[in-house]
Amino acid sequence: MKNLIMNLFSNKCPNCNKGKVFKNGLINFGFGFPKMNENCPNCNLKFEKEPGFFFGAMFVNYAVGCAEALITYFIAAPFFDKTFDLRIFPIIGIVILCLSITNIKLSRLIWIYIFKNYSK
Ligand SMILES: [Zn+2]
Repeated sequence: MKNLIMNLFSNKCPNCNKGKVFKNGLINFGFGFPKMNENCPNCNLKFEKEPGFFFGAMFVNYAVGCAEALITYFIAAPFFDKTFDLRIFPIIGIVILCLSITNIKLSRLIWIYIFKNYSK
């Protein structure tokens, strides 16, 4: 389980744990949609199993975004006097905006790992 999570965060193929899913790493500071390998460079596993496969990753992306918003809230809240200060919202927005490209990659990786063939 620990290895699985380590492989997920290090952008590794779920089948062989060697090939990369995204051409760049999980965290890089570039603009534009992240470039993804169609097949694993090592074991030739097709990442997009069917057209529209990554549509479901959108829901994972939402969950990841909510988790980041909550974490940001709990980190930022002690710096404000009131328990619920409206000035926290722009901070949460900026953090989510900065992490959006990473969120796309992370949600797709999670989606690939969910639908990996675990019976082998
Ligand atoms: Zn592979």
